[in-house]
Amino acid sequence: MKKVLIIGGGASGLMAAVSAARAGAVVTVLEHNKQVGKKLLITGNGRCNLTNVNQDDRNYRGGVPGFAKQVLDSFGMHDTLRLFTELGIFTKNRNGYLYPYSDQASAVVEALRMEAEHRKVKLALNTQIKGISCKDSGFEVQTEGWVYRGDALILAAGSCAAPQTGSDGSGYIYAKKLGHCIIKPLPALVQLRSRDKRMEKLAGLRMDAKVILQRDGEIVEREEGEVQFTAYGLSGIPIFQVSRYASRALEDGKKVEIELDLMPVFEEEPFAAFLNTRIALGAYKTIEQLLIGLFPKKMAECLRDTAKLSKGKTAEELTEEERQALIFECKHFRVQISSYNGFEQAQACCGGVDTAQVNPGTMESQLVKGLYFAGEILDIDGTCGGYNLQWAWSSGYLAGLHAAREGMTH
Ligand SMILES: Cc1cc2nc3c(=O)[nH]c(=O)nc-3n(C[C@H](O)[C@H](O)[C@H](O)COP(=O)(O)OP(=O)(O)OC[C@H]3O[C@@H](n4cnc5c(N)ncnc54)[C@H](O)[C@@H]3O)c2cc1C
Repeated sequence: MKKVLIIGGGASGLMAAVSAARAGAVVTVLEHNKQVGKKLLITGNGRCNLTNVNQDDRNYRGGVPGFAKQVLDSFGMHDTLRLFTELGIFTKNRNGYLYPYSDQASAVVEALRMEAEHRKVKLALNTQIKGISCKDSGFEVQTEGWVYRGDALILAAGSCAAPQTGSDGSGYIYAKKLGHCIIKPLPALVQLRSRDKRMEKLAGLRMDAKVILQRDGEIVEREEGEVQFTAYGLSGIPIFQVSRYASRALEDGKKVEIELDLMPVFEEEPFAAFLNTRIALGAYKTIEQLLIGLFPKKMAECLRDTAKLSKGKTAEELTEEERQALIFECKHFRVQISSYNGFEQAQACCGGVDTAQVNPGTMESQLVKGLYFAGEILDIDGTCGGYNLQWAWSSGYLAGLHAAREGMTH
């Protein structure tokens, strides 16, 4: 029987433990928290959006194109649901986003923990790792007071995102010591910051918008949804979705801009016609009055100022150029991004163990026989909607299965 050691008792580590134990291995999970699944408990606002029925390659981002797809092709959403159903999790579907029916993330943690314990997985909690070594005879993990030995080692220690949950980036250090390249981890699914003074005035607004992220003037990604304006910048799901490109571009010294289309229900020309009709009908109105019913007052004033139209000016006083400027600002409201919130606020991490050095069929290292990776420690990050957990389940399942079957032979 293979002995499998797993570092990290989070989503991917627990899944790896279940799959390795089901494949007949003797499994030990080393977790430095006093409980397993601490981050899992806060996912989906405590409800755990565990996967999504809509799966598209675009939901998984990373340095090696197609890497995540190969993993998901081996163990995807349907396999995950089958397994969770076996473990007792019945799901609830909200527009494709799947949650445990009880709406409790703790149900997912409990289901995995119960199965792991039933399969005699040893959950070594409160375990502080002092060192890891790879020998001909297998892996040794030195902890305070004990040395664990295994034929295979799975690094499932998570990323740097939400370090308060235990994923403090230490997994990268072990991966690096074992010879792996680490792509600099940066916050993903995070709020973006701006020095733009208009943000303070707009703070508190929520508006539906199309979001276009530009890097040095080139369009990198588009999203649509409810944008939240905050005193420090921009937040909301569509901002989270594009944030990983923003953090990477800023890290590379590029200029990053978010362009908001604040009237996404109209194409460019119909919107111009629509606003011109409004101007004709309400020629006596000031610009803010003209925009009542389209935008919140704070935004109407901001659009007026951004289009450089003086306060008190009426619709009939607008020159053709000024009309064009107003129409333009409604459709192309630009905010320069100066930075992003830290790992404490991030829901995921981009970067991590370079997947070019990992076999997507097995999750085994291409450098160290018997070493496997699972979850967010790898350079894969999902979009909002259950894709990060799907990645943890898929990669965890494969890593556990192959570690149990192949491991290190000696
Ligand atoms: C607030 C929030 C909400 C989220 N909501 C969702 C959601 O609804 N849907 C979704 O798909 N994704 C969500 N995510 C992302 C998702 O939680 C993660 O992608 C996922 O948990 C990653 O799994 P993992 O196993 O790689 O890492 P983790 O779940 O972070 O587990 C890593 C484990 O390793 C342990 N560990 C780390 N270093 C060591 C060490 N040196 N020694 C021993 N143990 C160690 C940690 O304590 C931790 O328990 C959310 C994230 C956050 C922060």
